[in-house]
Amino acid sequence: MKRALFPGSFDPLTLGHYDIIKRGVTLFDEVIVAIGVNADKKYMFSLEERKKFIEEAFADEPKIKVVTYKGLTVDFCKKIDVGFILRGLRNPADFEFEKAIAHTNRDLAPIETVFLLTSARTSYIASSIVRDVIRNSGDYTKLVPDSVRVK
Ligand code: ADP
Repeated sequence: MKRALFPGSFDPLTLGHYDIIKRGVTLFDEVIVAIGVNADKKYMFSLEERKKFIEEAFADEPKIKVVTYKGLTVDFCKKIDVGFILRGLRNPADFEFEKAIAHTNRDLAPIETVFLLTSARTSYIASSIVRDVIRNSGDYTKLVPDSVRVK
């Protein structure tokens, strides 16, 4: 069974992530959305909220799982026996950043990183921009799945 880990902060899940995950399940038998827990990082949404947003967005999709993890992504992949890491690419800056991470991961473990190019419609969306819109009381609902709502 071909399984891929889609790691990230998902603070919050955006339509960009949603697009990559949906297309990921056409390539893999299972896509595991993995929320990385970094104790030093300040998040807008709690871990529980971020997890709930993703679970609700894919409630009807049995091939998509949501987990949380600490530590190195490749160590977590080995632990749960996943052979692929899935990442999205928006622009040249993403490519340079992702290239360095993918090379490092390959040095650490025999795990392949698979990249999907973002859809044109969602290529400008980033969680940081969504957070900025939310902080300034703008309409963020066009940038995120319906499950992502601020209380
Ligand atoms: P990180 O904190 O690691 O940047 P994110 O949750 O922001 O995590 O992103 C996780 C993955 O989703 C990364 O591969 C990132 O490139 C991808 N991604 C984020 N936004 C988009 C988008 N709009 N289109 C495609 N991929 C995206």
